[in-house]
Amino acid sequence: MPRYATVYPLVTTRALARPFTYELVDGAAKGAVVSVPLGRSRRRGVVVELVDEPPAGIEPVPIDSVLDELPPVLVDLALWVADYYGSTPGRALELIAPLKRKRRKEQAPPGERQALVDESEAPELTAEQRAALERITASLEAAGGHFLLYGETGSGKTEVYLQACAAALARGRTAIVLVPEIALTPQTLGRFQARFGDAVALLHSGLTDAERRDERERIARGEAKVVVGARSAIFAPLRDVGVICVDEEHDPSYKQESDPRYDARTVAAKRAALEGAVAVFGSATPRPESWERLERLELGGRIAAPLPTVKVVDLRREAGYPLSAPLLAELGGLAERGGKGILLLNRRGVAPAVHCRACGATRRCPNCDVALTLHSDATLRCHHCGRLEAMGETCPTCGSADLARIGAGTQKLERELAKRVPELEVIRLDTDAVEKPEQLRDALARFARAERAVLVGTQMVAKGHHFPGVELAAVVDADTGLGLPDFRAEERTFQLLTQLAGRSGRDAPGRVVVQTFQPDSRAITYAARHDVAGFLAGELERRRALGYPPFRHLVRIVVTGPDLADATRALDELKAGLCEAELLGPAPLLRLRGRHRAQLVGKTDAPRALATRAAVLLSAAAVPMRRAGLTAVVDVDPQSL
Ligand code: ADP
Ligand code: ZN
Ligand code: ZN
Repeated sequence: MPRYATVYPLVTTRALARPFTYELVDGAAKGAVVSVPLGRSRRRGVVVELVDEPPAGIEPVPIDSVLDELPPVLVDLALWVADYYGSTPGRALELIAPLKRKRRKEQAPPGERQALVDESEAPELTAEQRAALERITASLEAAGGHFLLYGETGSGKTEVYLQACAAALARGRTAIVLVPEIALTPQTLGRFQARFGDAVALLHSGLTDAERRDERERIARGEAKVVVGARSAIFAPLRDVGVICVDEEHDPSYKQESDPRYDARTVAAKRAALEGAVAVFGSATPRPESWERLERLELGGRIAAPLPTVKVVDLRREAGYPLSAPLLAELGGLAERGGKGILLLNRRGVAPAVHCRACGATRRCPNCDVALTLHSDATLRCHHCGRLEAMGETCPTCGSADLARIGAGTQKLERELAKRVPELEVIRLDTDAVEKPEQLRDALARFARAERAVLVGTQMVAKGHHFPGVELAAVVDADTGLGLPDFRAEERTFQLLTQLAGRSGRDAPGRVVVQTFQPDSRAITYAARHDVAGFLAGELERRRALGYPPFRHLVRIVVTGPDLADATRALDELKAGLCEAELLGPAPLLRLRGRHRAQLVGKTDAPRALATRAAVLLSAAAVPMRRAGLTAVVDVDPQSL
C-alpha cells in the first residue's frame, strides 16, 4: 500500500513549480485536489502519483484535507499539456482544478437561461450520416479513433454529433462537445438539451464561479453526462469519455493565447487517445492539417437546399463602398419582398482610421503601431490596448479641421443601411454591441422573429449560428484578412467566405455577394465556386513546398521589451544556440501596449524538443533579459504569426 502522495501545488511561481511529497490521508488518490501545508501557508494542490517511499532525506507531513476528486486521466492530460506547450505543471493542473467558490445562493443552471429551445425528435439519418455514425460507433467499440467529419453547413454534422454522443451514453460512457466560442454555446446547448435533457452540462469561461461550481458538481455526481462548452470544456471532469466532438474545427479560437498556450483541438485528440475515445472534428471548411491527417467521413451537400449562388463584386469598378450598387439592389429586394440578410464586415467601429487632409497625419495609438478606430460616440479607440481618446474637431498635429474618415466599420455600415434601406431592421452583432451571452441570445432571437432585417457584424456572424430564412449573405470587404503577413491569411479568408455563404439559403435558395478589390485571389475564386477540395489541395501543395504545418511544426518565440534592439539581440543570441532547427527571423512585429516586439519562428519536426531547448536557453539568459526589461513567450503550434 502506498503511504505517500506526490502533489503539485497550484501556484504560478516557477520556484514552487515542482512536486512535493506528503503523507497520504484517506480518500486521496491520483486526481485528488487537496489542501496541503507549504512553507508557512496552506495551498491547493493535485495528487499526481502515489508512492511507497518518500524521496531520500524528506520527512513528509500529512495532507490537510481532500477538496475534490478528479478523474485520474485528467492528471495525465494536464501534465502532457504542461510538457508539450512548455508551461508548468501547476498552471496546467489549474485547468483541470479551477478554484471552487463557496455557495452563495441557489440559482437555476446556466443552461436554462442560455439555451435556445429546439425540437427533439431524432430524424432518420441519410445514407452518408449513417455511414459516418457506423464508423464512429465501430471505433467507439474498438480502441477509439480520430475522424474528420466534412460536410457543408446544413449537411447534418450536428445530427451526427448528437447520435455519436447517444451511442457513447448507450455504452455507459460520456461525451464532450466543443464549440469555438461562448457565443455559439446557446444553440448547440439547446439542441443537446432537447435530445438529452438534464444530462447536459454547460462549461465555459463566461460562467460565474457559482454556475461553474454547480455544473462541475452535476458532472462529478454523474448527473450530467454530456458537456457542451467552449475551449476549456475539454478539461471537463467527466469519467470514461467515449466521444469528443469538435465543431467548426477550423476555428482559431480553439487556441488559448495565454499560458498554457494549448490548442483545444490537439488536447481533444490527446484526451481521446488517453481515454480510448473517438474524436470527431467537424467542419465545412476543414483545416489543411485535418484534411491531410485524419480519416475523412463525408456528408456531402445540404439536406434542405442547394448551395447559394455567389456574385463577386469588383470594387475597382463599382463605386459606392461600403454598399455597392449590386449589393444595394439585393438589399432593396429584401426590403420590398420581405426577407433577411447577413452582412459581414470584419471591423468594428465607424471608421478604421482617421487622417488629416492638410498634413497627412493618421491618428495612431501612442502605445501600439496601429491606427485608432473611430467609434460612434466620437471617441478614437485602440483595438489592441483599449486606449480611448476624444476625436476632437481638429488635427492635433497641425490644427486643421479637414479630417477624413477612412474606410468603414460595422457602426458606419449600420448607419448607411438605416439611410439607404430604412425599411430593414438592422441588428448589429459585434463585441461592442454584444457583451453578455444573454444579449447575444436576444439579438439572435430578434433576428429570428424579424420579417425584414439585416444582421450586421464582424466574424461573429459567420460563425456557426443557424439563422432560419436567410436568403442573402454579403461580405462587405473580403480583403481585410488577405493583406495579413500570416501564412494562414488565405485559408482564413477562404473559411470566412465559405462559412458566411453557408449561412444563407439554408431553407430557401440563397444568394451571396462578395465585395473585393482582389477578385482574382485564390481564396476568393475557390470560395465563389464552393471548391473546398480544390482550395485545400493547392494549400497543401504550397505548405509542403514551404515546410509549413501539417508537414512540419512551428514554434514561435516572441520577445517584448522597451527597446527593439535589445529584443532583437536576445533573439539573435537564442538563434545562435538553437542551431539544429530551421529558424526564420528575428523579425520585428507591431509595437503593442508600448512594448516593442520581435519574433523568431522555427520550423521543426520535434516541436517539444525545440520549445524545451528555447526555454532552457531563455532561462539561462534570464538575468540580462530582466535587466533589459525583456520578456519572452514560447508558443508551440501558434495559430497566428
Ligand atoms: P450542420 O451541423 O452540418 O450544419 P445540422 O445537423 O444542423 O447540420 O442539420 C441541418 C438541418 O437539417 C437541421 O435543421 C437538422 O435538424 C436537419 N437534419 C439533419 N439531419 C437530418 C436528417 N437525416 N433528415 C432530415 N433532417 C435532418
Ligand atoms: Zn494635420
Ligand atoms: Zn494601443
